[in-house]
Amino acid sequence: MLTPASRVTIRSMVTQTPKPLLVLPARAGAWFWRLPLLAIILLIAVITFFTWFGLKQEREERHAALISDTLWMEQNMRYQFETVENQLAQIANEFGIGGDLHSDRAQDKVRDMLQGNSGLGAMLWLDSEGTMLSTMPASAAPVQLSTDHPICVLRARTLNRPSYTRPYRLADGTYAIEVVLPVFGANDFNGYAVGIFSLPRLISMHVPWWFAERYRLSFTDSLGQELASTTNAANLDDAHAFGVTFDRMGGLGIRVNAYRANTRVMPVVVVLVLIAFTLVIVWCLWMLRNRVLRLQETETALRSEHAFRLAMENSTLIGLFARDLQGHITYANAAFCRMVGWSEEELHGQQTPLPFLVPDESSLAGGASNLTDVANATAVEMRFRHNNGNSFDVLVYEAPLIDAHSHHAGWVCSVLDITERKRAEALARDQQEQLEATARLVTMGEMASTLAHELNQPLSAITSYSAGCLNALKAGRYDEQQFTDILGKINHQGQRAGSIIRRIYNFVRRSESRSERMDINAAIQEATGLLETEVARRKVQLQTVLAPELPPIMGDRVMIEQVLVNLLRNGMDAMKNIPAEQRVLRIVSEQAGDAICLSVTDNGTGIPPDIADRLFDSFFTTKPDGMGMGLKICRSVAEQHNGRLWFETEASGGTSFHLLLPIGETDKTTD
Ligand code: ADP
Repeated sequence: MLTPASRVTIRSMVTQTPKPLLVLPARAGAWFWRLPLLAIILLIAVITFFTWFGLKQEREERHAALISDTLWMEQNMRYQFETVENQLAQIANEFGIGGDLHSDRAQDKVRDMLQGNSGLGAMLWLDSEGTMLSTMPASAAPVQLSTDHPICVLRARTLNRPSYTRPYRLADGTYAIEVVLPVFGANDFNGYAVGIFSLPRLISMHVPWWFAERYRLSFTDSLGQELASTTNAANLDDAHAFGVTFDRMGGLGIRVNAYRANTRVMPVVVVLVLIAFTLVIVWCLWMLRNRVLRLQETETALRSEHAFRLAMENSTLIGLFARDLQGHITYANAAFCRMVGWSEEELHGQQTPLPFLVPDESSLAGGASNLTDVANATAVEMRFRHNNGNSFDVLVYEAPLIDAHSHHAGWVCSVLDITERKRAEALARDQQEQLEATARLVTMGEMASTLAHELNQPLSAITSYSAGCLNALKAGRYDEQQFTDILGKINHQGQRAGSIIRRIYNFVRRSESRSERMDINAAIQEATGLLETEVARRKVQLQTVLAPELPPIMGDRVMIEQVLVNLLRNGMDAMKNIPAEQRVLRIVSEQAGDAICLSVTDNGTGIPPDIADRLFDSFFTTKPDGMGMGLKICRSVAEQHNGRLWFETEASGGTSFHLLLPIGETDKTTD
């Protein structure tokens, strides 16, 4: 249903070209669509950069922590070595080189050292010549010394300070390092104290748990070869490793290697989510772009279609108007406004009774009196009224108006001004009638001598009968019976003359064509009656075979009679040159389905094929005195009665003309 608001919208839409809703760059791949994509890519780049930067900083911080922890561990180890050096020197001083390391007190002290956290695996005394005096712990196997031992002893004596050998491998596969301390008495050199550090013990004693958790620590030799370590080398982060070599300790160093940090989930998740979101946004953007482009195309097509329709509506001579289901006018085109003389603004919103409708006249004209009737028919003739009071004939077609939701929203009417057409039709009808009347007069003219002869007979009879009566009266010889007979004969002859004149009058009198129920057999009898004398004069044998009780037809009796007279006279003309005894003219009437067929068959010369096509043309005749309008008029009369006229050649050589007229068909001649 159309609301007033929507009516206004429709109206404004149909009268103006709408402005485009979307004004977008023409090209599909224009910068317009790249801008959001660019913004998204920039956003991703920035976030990726910050994530990468954060991770990098974290890595650098880890590396710095590793270095400082390694340096701390180196300090710690160095401190341990120095502590052990001091303790060895202290024991050597306290008990003296060559003193009994196996005495109870010395044993306690040495055991404390070896079993404590010194990392020492064994210790021994050497005399000033470097000869081994005693070892601790005392064991069956001799203490395994480094191959560097003699050099180291020499270096300790020469430099007067502790000296370390290179790390060396023990029999059990572990590595050790030896320290040789020169020991001095009050005034002189006493000998050497030697400590053998076990590298695995040093690690287990001096690497704190927190350090071992974060890093793998290993002792290395001068070639970087690993000698002992906290754990095996699994899961290490090669990027985070740092090594330090101890000073003057035979190339011994430590290498610290960080364990690989657990992959941090959050940044990865963030990046993944970001990528997923980006993909979704890009996809949405792509879909949006396609949709907008489609909309744009549709809108452009719609606008050109609208402009095309608008141009068509404005240029057409057919009036168009639309109304909603309540009967309000919602639209009228320029042609319709011109037709009725009201502007579109004046017509808009008008409802029944519409100002341009003339109900009474419409119904009188046989057309529709209101538009509801039009809606139920294909096309209806109506009478409309112009604003200036003049009325005119129109042909109205109405079609339902279906909106975008497939709902019936109203009606659209197209209106064709047919005033001129009707005027031309009336004129043509008038001219046709005049032509037919003229043709009838011509026929009568041709039959005048025959008719005069026919009239002469009853008039002569009347004259002779009345003369006989007068003579009888004068002579006084008469009786009543005789007079009654003669007067009866006079009366009969008078009526005969009267009927001849009535027929002629009926035939030639010009009347408006009039449709009425008529008996076709009666029309045949009237026509043959008119031609009775001519038939006799031409020595033609007339046969009538009429089907009884034929249903009536709707038609103009005079016109049908005119057709019959024409066909009968043509038939007689065609038999002019054949022997009188062969001149047979047959009239047959019969029912053929829902029509009645009249046939006029002659025995004449027939119609040559070369003129058959032109027979029904105006003014075509083969007769010297013919007018050539007879068959033309006959055919147009048949068509006016929605019938048909045609001819067939008979086997005998003659011709049959057939007139087919529908039964009960409403006469069209009043149109
Ligand atoms: P007209 O009788 O004045 O010549 P028509 O239109 O009645 O005009 O006939 C046209 C022509 O058709 C005739 O001149 C004649 O040659 C031919 N015609 C009509 N009826 C017959 C018929 N029954 N047999 C032969 N020819 C015919």
